[in-house]
Amino acid sequence: MSYQHQYVDGTKIHFPLGKVVCIGRNYAEHAQELNNPVPTEPLLFIKPSSAVVPIEGGFSIPDDRGSVHYEAEIAVLIGKPLSRKPSEEEVRDAISGFAPALDLTLRDVQARLKEKGYPWEIAKSFDGACVLAPFIPGDAYSDLADIDVRLTINGEIRQDGNSCDMLNPIVPLIQHLCGHFSLQPGDVVLTGTPKGVGPLNKGDTLVLELPGKSQFESRVL
Ligand code: ZN
Repeated sequence: MSYQHQYVDGTKIHFPLGKVVCIGRNYAEHAQELNNPVPTEPLLFIKPSSAVVPIEGGFSIPDDRGSVHYEAEIAVLIGKPLSRKPSEEEVRDAISGFAPALDLTLRDVQARLKEKGYPWEIAKSFDGACVLAPFIPGDAYSDLADIDVRLTINGEIRQDGNSCDMLNPIVPLIQHLCGHFSLQPGDVVLTGTPKGVGPLNKGDTLVLELPGKSQFESRVL
C-alpha cells in the first residue's frame, strides 16, 4: 500500500513524503535494556522515504534476516522548512502533526554491524521499516514534554512511555538536527523509543496509540 501523509480525520496532507530522521537511545532505560551506553550527544540516523508504509490494514516484515524488533515512537511531522539555528518558536511553528510510529529494526543485523563499528543503515532502512499512523494536528499538545506513547501486542502492553523521559526533548532535538541538515515540509522526525522493545512475529495484533489522542489497530501480515 502506498503512503501519503494524512490526518486522522482522513484529510490528505499535501506535503511530499520526505526523509525520516531518527534518534537512537533517547530514553535512558531503553539504552540500558540493550546494554548500550547513554550517548552524550544525539545519535542520529535517517530512513529513506521508501521505508515508510501506512499502519492501516497491516504491514509485512522481512522473514529472511533474523529478528525484527518493534520500537514504538512519537513521530513529528515537519510542515515548514527549518535549517541552521531555528528558534524554539520557529520549531514549534513548523510542527504540523504528531502520530505514533514504529521504527522497525533488524536487530540481529544491527548487532553484527554495531560489533564491527559499521553504519546501521541496512538494519533500519528496508522497505516497510517505518510504519506511520495518521497525524493529529501540530497544536494538539500544549506541553510537548507530556506526550504518552503506548504499544500493545496481542493484548499485552509492551511499551508505555512519555516524552518527559526523553534525554533530548522534542524541540531541542529538532534544533540540534537542524545544525546538521535542513528539514523540509513532509519530513518526519522519530523521537526515540521508550523501554520494552522486542521481536515482532507474523500474525501479531497491535494497538499503537498516543493515549487520549489517537489509537490504531494493526497486524503483522
Ligand atoms: Zn528507534
